Amino acid sequence: MTRHIRKVAVIGSGVMGSGIAAHLANVGIPSLLLDIVPKEVTAAEKAKGLTLEDKAVRNRLSSVALQKLGKQKPAPLSSKEKLSYIEAGNLEDDLHRLQEVDWIIEVIVENLNIKQQLLKVIDEVRKPGTIVSSNTSGISIEAMSQGLSDDFQGHFLGTHFFNPPRYLKLLEVIPTAKTKEDVTTFMKAFAEETLGKGVVIGKDTPNFIANRIGTYGLLVTVDEMIKGGYSVGEVDSVTGPLIGRPKSATFRTLDVVGLDTFLHVAKNVHDIASGSEKEMFDPPAFMKEMGEKGWLGSKSGQGFYLKQGKEILEIEPSTLEYNERKKLKAPSIERAKQAKKLTDKIDILTYSDDRAGQLIWNIVKPVLLYSADKVYEIANDIYAVDQAMKWGFGWELGPFEMWDAIGVAKSVERMEAEGETIPTWVKDMLATGQESFYADNCFYHDGKQEPKPVNEKIIHLSSLKPDHVIFKNSGASLLDIGDDVALLEFHSPNNSIGADVIQMINKSIKEVEQNYKGLVINNQGKNFCVGANLMMILMEAQDDNFFEIDLVVRQFQQAMATIRYSEKPVVTAPFGMTLGGGTEICLPSASIQASLETYMGLVEVGVGLIPGGGGNKELYLRNLENSDGKDLQSVAIKTFETIAMAKVSTSAHEAVNHGFLGAHDGVVINGDLLIDRAKREVLHLDAKGYRPPERAKIPVVGESGYATMLLGAKTMKFGGMISDHDLKIAQKLAFTLSGGRVPKGTLVDEQYLLDLEREAFLSLVAEPKSQQRMQHMLTKGKPLRN
Ligand code: NAD
Repeated sequence: MTRHIRKVAVIGSGVMGSGIAAHLANVGIPSLLLDIVPKEVTAAEKAKGLTLEDKAVRNRLSSVALQKLGKQKPAPLSSKEKLSYIEAGNLEDDLHRLQEVDWIIEVIVENLNIKQQLLKVIDEVRKPGTIVSSNTSGISIEAMSQGLSDDFQGHFLGTHFFNPPRYLKLLEVIPTAKTKEDVTTFMKAFAEETLGKGVVIGKDTPNFIANRIGTYGLLVTVDEMIKGGYSVGEVDSVTGPLIGRPKSATFRTLDVVGLDTFLHVAKNVHDIASGSEKEMFDPPAFMKEMGEKGWLGSKSGQGFYLKQGKEILEIEPSTLEYNERKKLKAPSIERAKQAKKLTDKIDILTYSDDRAGQLIWNIVKPVLLYSADKVYEIANDIYAVDQAMKWGFGWELGPFEMWDAIGVAKSVERMEAEGETIPTWVKDMLATGQESFYADNCFYHDGKQEPKPVNEKIIHLSSLKPDHVIFKNSGASLLDIGDDVALLEFHSPNNSIGADVIQMINKSIKEVEQNYKGLVINNQGKNFCVGANLMMILMEAQDDNFFEIDLVVRQFQQAMATIRYSEKPVVTAPFGMTLGGGTEICLPSASIQASLETYMGLVEVGVGLIPGGGGNKELYLRNLENSDGKDLQSVAIKTFETIAMAKVSTSAHEAVNHGFLGAHDGVVINGDLLIDRAKREVLHLDAKGYRPPERAKIPVVGESGYATMLLGAKTMKFGGMISDHDLKIAQKLAFTLSGGRVPKGTLVDEQYLLDLEREAFLSLVAEPKSQQRMQHMLTKGKPLRN
């Protein structure tokens, strides 16, 4: 049977339920968000004359949750408009409407009894065949559905989202013995393709995979902190990015998760475990005491850390007093920092005998052993465990990948010398002469090498190198990605745009025009591109090399025109930060296929400049195209405001609102599928017989429009909202966008607008205050408002 999920019922409108409904809205799936009917009216409701019979009161819980969605940070919704996909309701009046939906997800309090009662009601009202799932963090899925109808049990499974659902990639799917296989397969594919999640199939055991290993890892670290006499800050200074873990390391992570949630999750395992596992899942007394005091972390204002003014203090576990935050200093840390590869950093730290080395060994060792011990109880294979930890906890390496990094044979020898028991299957693996869990694209499973699951739609650029490289220079490479499509990958520092990248854009388009159907521009770094090489511009400006800057700007503008007028379609595929020049590269392309998580903006004013690669004209043209008959002036003002206020979208959907994306563009929910989608877009455009746009003349608002824009900026200046220098930049920007001293409605050619842009850029780059802004950005990483 073909399954579809067109509408969903989310039951429970708390932190997770509302977040899940928001994410469904982000991908365009409408949902009913249901919660219990309140037992009493509030004073405010009473004042409005409302009673328990009124819808406004009966839907209060889910309505309030909806209102909160628009205000939360990081934003659960990819744009405010998405809120209209969610309908608030309650579990009495709207129960019959469960018949309307294809998937019912239970997201209520973590209590087996309460969940069982709700599922019983759902079993009675749902139409046969409707998928039902629970978002429980760790309660047995089977226990929840015991005694319910066969059809219910066949369509019931765990779908464990991580908080916040929009941003955390992991979704654990937990079938029971009774879940139909096709239901599990369908939900996995749906979650990956439609919701953009990384799915791992887990077994129905307490806390499933990621929380089981992750909680253990956190508790082991706390234990080691106490035994080894380290401080909270010291532990965090080495358990973060240095070993491939998130910046929040150990204790900041706990503060963000909330101690109450953490203690609850730990209890899940404590309740069923025995021996040393039970002991480990019993958190130390000081954490329980913190929990009792309500020092839960971010949500209660204090936890392992306390912010006092500008200072951040750390808790001293023995006294529960807050002291100055410390950082661990050790020679191994310095050496690890020098190492380029993460695996080398980990290796250095693990085998050093200083305080940092001892800490890392003592927290890594138990996690590796615990993972190996539990792997087949909680998951199907080691690959699932590694993926779960990477997607759910933001680890760069899963436990088995980490074990490979420190050498399995070497570390096992040391573990055994320290009296540890090594799980038999690991010893068996070593006995066969296999020295690592992973080799090539395979992982060790059941005595043999098993290929990693392959999703044909996920293209890894690293696996195409070096065989598929057409040509490369220091800043970028042109790769053949098959089916006569080429891909230009930036790999300059921070993927910034310098002369080498510009040269490669021109050269690649020439090559593609001759030998390929089209070009994709993308890379698989942290961000698509954070702009032009600011350091180079500042250095030239400080040396008064304006001739050189003029040349670079001309070349940049020229390269962007090459993208726009390429005979073959150029499809850009941005993701993450796509700022300044990064946005300018996207704007002239035939189509932008943007990851949902794309933060796009022309942010040049923050460094005292305006866009210099044709971005002003391109955004104006895009706004003109999407203007729905709005007058020229509104188009110019919208463009002016977007650039002058350096607006950055918080998602690809918001980028549509800002005018960066339009009708020819697409939003890709699962970033892993970005290249595939961009490639398919190239093939689609080619099949349609792609023709580049005509070099048409552009209508501008001229002098009168310039005056209006300037007036807006001056009003802001008089209102104290912007500085003199902001006003100067705004004036140059307004002049560029308006087309200068011409009457409103004059048709100008593109080069004329590009010349205005270049002149404005060059005059601003010479301004001392702009140079101060650039300097500040380069040294402090944030804009200076001077
Ligand atoms: P929450 O306390 O924020 O929300 C729970 C919601 O359930 C509330 O809106 C409440 O009104 C509703 N509810 C309470 N009793 C109910 C009943 N009898 N019938 C129907 N609704 C009822 O909790 P949460 O953090 O959103 O957690 C919900 C579920 O998701 C739990 O099973 C939890 O373990 C799981 N979970 C939580 C997180 C997290 O980080 N918070 C992460 C993953 C999974």
